Amino acid sequence: MSSILLPEFCLVLLIGASGSGKTTFAGKHFKPTEIVSSDWARGRVADDENSLEATPDAFELVQTLIEIRMRRRMLTVVDATNVRAEDRAKLTAIAKRWDALCAAIVIDPGEDICLDRNKLRPDRQFGPHVVRNQRSALRKGLGGLKREGFREIHQLMSRAAIDDAVITRQK
Ligand code: ATP
Repeated sequence: MSSILLPEFCLVLLIGASGSGKTTFAGKHFKPTEIVSSDWARGRVADDENSLEATPDAFELVQTLIEIRMRRRMLTVVDATNVRAEDRAKLTAIAKRWDALCAAIVIDPGEDICLDRNKLRPDRQFGPHVVRNQRSALRKGLGGLKREGFREIHQLMSRAAIDDAVITRQK
């Protein structure tokens, strides 16, 4: 069982391909108000959580919310794929400005599970190459997470590891 210890104030990036279970994991372990999600932000700026065209504006909203929550020293969880180092760098830079610890929780139940789950989701009918590319970017980045400034790095690399993880807040 993975035991994840988090300080009361930190920025947590979930890192995982589409269908890996990030939103489900976030909902299980964090308060809804602690979660900043790229889908939610797309919905807010474009009335459509799946609008890819809205991604840059949605990301701006995500960054603004993180900035404000860090300033207020509120634990914040980013529910987005976060598989590209360039995207992560913009978020960790905000946390560093406010002296927040950065934690990475990598969620990867494997390609087949991601693909099977997305097949059942009407709004995720993209080709299998999308998940493949995301997982390959994710794997390429794993070794560099420490250098990127993540102090806590947790890799949940199977369905059981994801389902059994326990998160404890440091008092
Ligand atoms: P996306 O990046 O596309 O938004 P995601 O990584 O946030 O995807 P979820 O939305 O959490 O993935 O889950 C995708 C689907 O898989 C959902 O239908 C969800 O019910 C199912 N699912 C996620 N995690 C689990 C789990 N641990 N056990 C069983 N089903 C799960």
